[in-house]
Amino acid sequence: MRSHYCGHVNAGHLKQTVTVCGWVHRRRDHGGVIFVDLRDREGLVQVVCDPDREDTFAKAETLRNEFVLRVTGVVRPRPQGTVNPNLASGEIEVLAHQIEILNPSLTPPFQLDDGNLSETVRLTHRVIDLRRPQMQENLMLRYRTSMAVRRYLDAAGFIDIETPMLYKSTPEGAREFLVPSRVHAGHFYALPQSPQLFKQMLMIAGFDRYYQITRCFRDEDLRADRQPEFTQIDIETSFLTEIEIRAMMEDMLRAVFREALGVELANPFPVMSYADAMARYGVDKPDLRVPLEFTELTDLMKTVDFKVFRGAAELTDGRVVALCIPGGGSLTRKEIDDFTPFVAIYGAKGLAYIKVNDDIIFFGAGRAKVVNDSLGALRAKIGHERGFTVKEWKPLWVVDFPMFEYEEEAKRWVARHHPFTAPKDGHEDLLSAQPGEAVAKAYDLVLNGWELGGGSVRIHRAEVQAKFGFLLDALQYGAPPHGGIAFGLDRMVAMMAGAESIRDVIAFPKTQRAQDLLTLAPSAVEEKQLRDLHIRLRQSDAKS
Ligand code: ASP
Repeated sequence: MRSHYCGHVNAGHLKQTVTVCGWVHRRRDHGGVIFVDLRDREGLVQVVCDPDREDTFAKAETLRNEFVLRVTGVVRPRPQGTVNPNLASGEIEVLAHQIEILNPSLTPPFQLDDGNLSETVRLTHRVIDLRRPQMQENLMLRYRTSMAVRRYLDAAGFIDIETPMLYKSTPEGAREFLVPSRVHAGHFYALPQSPQLFKQMLMIAGFDRYYQITRCFRDEDLRADRQPEFTQIDIETSFLTEIEIRAMMEDMLRAVFREALGVELANPFPVMSYADAMARYGVDKPDLRVPLEFTELTDLMKTVDFKVFRGAAELTDGRVVALCIPGGGSLTRKEIDDFTPFVAIYGAKGLAYIKVNDDIIFFGAGRAKVVNDSLGALRAKIGHERGFTVKEWKPLWVVDFPMFEYEEEAKRWVARHHPFTAPKDGHEDLLSAQPGEAVAKAYDLVLNGWELGGGSVRIHRAEVQAKFGFLLDALQYGAPPHGGIAFGLDRMVAMMAGAESIRDVIAFPKTQRAQDLLTLAPSAVEEKQLRDLHIRLRQSDAKS
């Protein structure tokens, strides 16, 4: 149907006859001459219709936005002064000889270049929204990213193996989506939270290096930027140590950023222990673009008279830190007061400070968790708002995570990464004796303050692995040492695209309330379908 993509026609085609197909992006009637910006996925080209050709001109007069056209014409230079340097086709225009309307369009629900659309409108009319050049670019970037991942892993000997979507309910951590079985009344499959157990079993089965770019499902209350289904780059290898796995994975990320974005990431990535990250930044995913750090005061404050600090320092889980903001002496009283409700979000009861010459020093005192969360967030906020940030990509490995964290409500220790993570060599005995002290062979890849991926070396000896029957069985038949990682593809691409939300790099995402506004899922179903599945709704649920 066509000879060129609209966005590809350029000065190299001058005097040639081309045929392009696409959508009317804009139509301008310049009294006598009609200009049409024709759009396809590669970009725009300007089509000119002049009144000399009566047929084409008459057709051009009927065109409206989003009509689908096929245009044949001759490429000629744009008149002087009308060249558009922002377009690949900006030096030329196509003088239309023939216009064919392949399909008209209703008036679209919004202008494609409207920058102030609500997300509800965009998701309800997602097909039109996806036509916007920015969305086309985002999804192409996503494709380039996953292709770069595949090329790297393929060259490194990884093979893509699919794992089931209908899976068994396992206590892996998050709440699962359940799928009722028709054939087995009263029984359910679960959608996988990740292919974790399958990839480990593939290692035991001898495949050595596995990857999959795959969907994972977690039925959690959606925090700000989560999706009930999301995509992971899931990887597992045998016979590599933690250090070898990390070296390979950062090499992959460098290749991906280079190929998909033209960005060269650091080589090697810096490595920081979890303890160090918490001590210096109060978070396990520090944004290293912000150079500000905590100063530890806990020990010092144990001997002072000031009760608020001393009391906090003497708590078993207490902490006192200072955060010095160079040049912060110029902060006004109002600006400082506004930080108080901000740190209150993280449980801080107040925010102490002193001004010293040009600088201001904030203090956090109380339970370590509250101090870390509140001053950690304040550090990032002030760092970004007051221009301390460096405009760079700042990757970081955070390593040596604790094996367990204590769940106050259930009064028990639970695996911090997941229950398949191996302890550091020599920490095996701590697992039951002093669970709070045991360190894991777990690592997170952090980029600009986001956890982009996380993984671990796994337990490969059955004596250490608890609970999961079928994995336990497999482990007894000669399991190789193995480990892996999973990266969040949605987040990775959103960061690369500079998008505000991962929803902008997912073709058909769900809202924060887990709804698909385009297809209107989830929805009620016929009584007959429920009957087939041996399900009766509770009275209260059925009504709502
Ligand atoms: N399955 C883990 C996760 O989803 C990643 C890994 O340990 O490889 O977080």
